[in-house]
Amino acid sequence: MIVYLNGVYLPAEEAKISPLDRGFLFGDGIYEAIPSYGGRTVGMQLHIERMKRGLDAIGIDNPLTDQEWNAVARELIERNGSGDLGIYLHVSRGNEGRRMHRFPEGVPPTVFGTVLEISPHPPTPDRQTKKGLRAITAKDHRWDLCHIKSTALLGNVLHFQQGYKAGMDETILYNHSKELTEASSSNVFIVINGEVVTPLLDNQKLPGISRHILLESLRAEGSLSVTERVVTLEEARRADEIWITNSSKQIAPVVELEGQAVGDGKVGKIWEKAMRIYEAAKFDF
Ligand code: PLP
Repeated sequence: MIVYLNGVYLPAEEAKISPLDRGFLFGDGIYEAIPSYGGRTVGMQLHIERMKRGLDAIGIDNPLTDQEWNAVARELIERNGSGDLGIYLHVSRGNEGRRMHRFPEGVPPTVFGTVLEISPHPPTPDRQTKKGLRAITAKDHRWDLCHIKSTALLGNVLHFQQGYKAGMDETILYNHSKELTEASSSNVFIVINGEVVTPLLDNQKLPGISRHILLESLRAEGSLSVTERVVTLEEARRADEIWITNSSKQIAPVVELEGQAVGDGKVGKIWEKAMRIYEAAKFDF
């Protein structure tokens, strides 16, 4: 695997970062994961814009221009075989040579890029997404700034592990009012009373690019009713379908929640339709 580190492309095993880097010490950084299928990215500019908003929110100067970010992504794709892969971009607040909480002055950010495994394109019946995923639910114990795509993912990792330990694929999270926020590594949609519904964005949720592309493409196509509003845990429990979305799985159906079948326990018809609409539109983003 070839990675990018501070302007240089090199084999992953040769890439070295100091343990005094604030990314390592504090999880002090921002990241993105962008899907790419056979060399075609999905939502590249949307991902760059979100990364810039995140860097701005935590006070790190964006180290590269849009053109340079695009070039890094392109190089990583080409140097790693141009298959179906996620491009991982990561910017930390750098290394000032000692551990201090306050931001250092004049220290360049550390810029790292690599590639990740993602579900292949397009989804086919024998692949995981078509079989459907299983999820548990949990009270969301993360922090108050989940709209920032921070590299400090301990809360997400602990929630993911909760589900994983129980043999599940995801952990769907709800807040103190028993309203869905998102899942440990994805956004959530439900289908209820014939409507596709997803929680409104706020500081408890990452504004997912897959979520955005799905909403936009469903609205543009026009045949399904789509709403962003509060979604309660109780609604999720009696939903006909549940989907999770992220850049690695795209739109994946959840067929079991808390040990109970979602709807008839099979991958839903609305999911199949939504997936077709999404697949037809996603490379336009
Ligand atoms: N929510 C969380 C907590 C995530 O980690 C992710 C993706 O990793 C998402 C939502 C979905 O975001 P995107 O569709 O941009 O991948």
